[in-house]
Amino acid sequence: MITALVTIAVLAALAGIATVATASHVERASLADRIDALLPQTQCRRCTFDGCRPYAEAIAQGAADINQCPPGGERTAKALAQLIGVAPKPVGKEFGVVPNHPTVAVIDEAACIGCTKCIQACPVDAIVGASRYMHTVIAADCTGCELCIPPCPVDCIDMQPAVRH
Ligand code: SF4
Ligand code: SF4
Ligand code: SF4
Repeated sequence: MITALVTIAVLAALAGIATVATASHVERASLADRIDALLPQTQCRRCTFDGCRPYAEAIAQGAADINQCPPGGERTAKALAQLIGVAPKPVGKEFGVVPNHPTVAVIDEAACIGCTKCIQACPVDAIVGASRYMHTVIAADCTGCELCIPPCPVDCIDMQPAVRH
């Protein structure tokens, strides 16, 4: 009888721990959602994470600071500080600087050798083209992240001011 009662008590305790762990996981996921909604979704990785969502999750887990997103700038850092409940701080210069206007990548199609390296680097599938044929950027989908520029072996991609309609 006593053994049965002890077993029930242990199971109840374990269930309680599992519930608390699940609740805390859900809270963190929901916080990450709210943080992610404040980020510019450029997916440029300047924050040192693999995109906006991983950065949001790192902030939610207390593993990243609120001042690591240059495209979001001061406005995003302030909004993040308010959401997390910490003091605002300027974006760290070590995370780089971005132009203060939207930009898009433009490929010099005459110079392009069709190597596809830019397609592989683009985090938002904004480049179209086939192997050994010229490539082009879908301007409306380009976030201006600049990740396609370093891999281009013939340096035929430039950033230009975006024309938004
Ligand atoms: S620096 Fe900002 S925009 Fe770029 S991936 Fe990180 S959170 Fe997203
Ligand atoms: S085309 Fe280049 S700059 Fe534009 S989103 Fe893709 S990788 Fe970034
Ligand atoms: S990386 Fe440069 S050369 Fe290669 S497909 Fe893209 S634009 Fe063309």
